Amino acid sequence: MLRGDLHHHFNADPVDGVFVQHSIGELIDRAAACGINVLAVTCHEAIPYDGDATRYAAERGVILLRGMEATVGSEHVLLINFREFPQGKCTMADIAAAKDPGALVIAPHPFYPLG
Ligand SMILES: [Zn+2]
Repeated sequence: MLRGDLHHHFNADPVDGVFVQHSIGELIDRAAACGINVLAVTCHEAIPYDGDATRYAAERGVILLRGMEATVGSEHVLLINFREFPQGKCTMADIAAAKDPGALVIAPHPFYPLG
């Protein structure tokens, strides 16, 4: 059985890194300890980790999905498993153009008043 968590940030996030204090390694360790075996790291308009984090996760039984939290207008959208991510603020048309069949687009907090 797969247990996934598809919306996470860590201390290198250009936006949430101001208050998120855990490293990506600590995040992966915590996910593994909680029995989560699919984890998407979705930092704001950035992918501030490399293959080392992916290998570190795999060694702990966690599949690390490449993700990003994009900004569309004043809203946030999670993009997961894209081959190429739109750069900077983008439009839904940019996302549709970059989306591969295996990619996911998720509204991370649809009821949050600021996006
Ligand atoms: Zn987020």
